[in-house]
Amino acid sequence: MNEIPERLDRVRERIRAAAFACGRDPGGIALLAVSKTKPAGDVLAAFAAGQHRFGENYLQDALPKIVALDAALTDAAPGPAIEWHFIGRIQGNKCAEISRHFAWVHGLDSLRHAQLLDRHRPDAAAPLQVCLQVNLSGEASKGGVEADALPALATAVAALPRLTLRGLMTMPDPHAGAARQRADFARLRGLRDALNAAGLALDTLSMGMSGDMEAAIAEGATIVRIGTDIFGPRD
Ligand SMILES: *Cc1c(COP(=O)(O)O)cnc(C)c1O
Repeated sequence: MNEIPERLDRVRERIRAAAFACGRDPGGIALLAVSKTKPAGDVLAAFAAGQHRFGENYLQDALPKIVALDAALTDAAPGPAIEWHFIGRIQGNKCAEISRHFAWVHGLDSLRHAQLLDRHRPDAAAPLQVCLQVNLSGEASKGGVEADALPALATAVAALPRLTLRGLMTMPDPHAGAARQRADFARLRGLRDALNAAGLALDTLSMGMSGDMEAAIAEGATIVRIGTDIFGPRD
């Protein structure tokens, strides 16, 4: 039994309700369906229900799905195909393939990786859309640039010709309380606003997952990344 269309509808309804609750236009909040570890059939079920943006964390898990689904959908209809977002930890030796197969990268946190993604972006493709991941939880084990190193990195990334710097992403400490998580979302928005005041043009805040999406929307999220509440729990 496939419950993905119903779950997708419930998530869309939550996004609408959360937007109205804080006076925002729900149209300004994009839903990224996080399909990591899930089979291609699940992606197809969500696609058939009108979902076109999908997020993947692990390149080896994602590539077979991307190749198979892009081929199947191109054959099936000329309509809008899937927009793939890489949301996992980036490794230098994976940058070439990430840059070839994805439209967006959310977890960028080093200039070296940015330069590799830039160098490997195919000329025929649109620029790679990137968000810088910011580490607000203070956990050293987590990815993300520290807030005080963010302006220099953002300026350098914005200058790379084959990348378009769209905004910021964060993952709050899942064990922090709701108040702390919401405060981190507000801080991310403040960092984005400060970069824009300094001359950049960032329109994206990638924040909010299944458990904290309402707080993220209240603090200005423009992309929410939802896995469990669409596809069910992962093993
Ligand atoms: C897995 C993951 C998500 C989705 O998390 P859920 O709690 O399943 O909604 C969002 N963002 C990132 C970076 C993830 O790794």
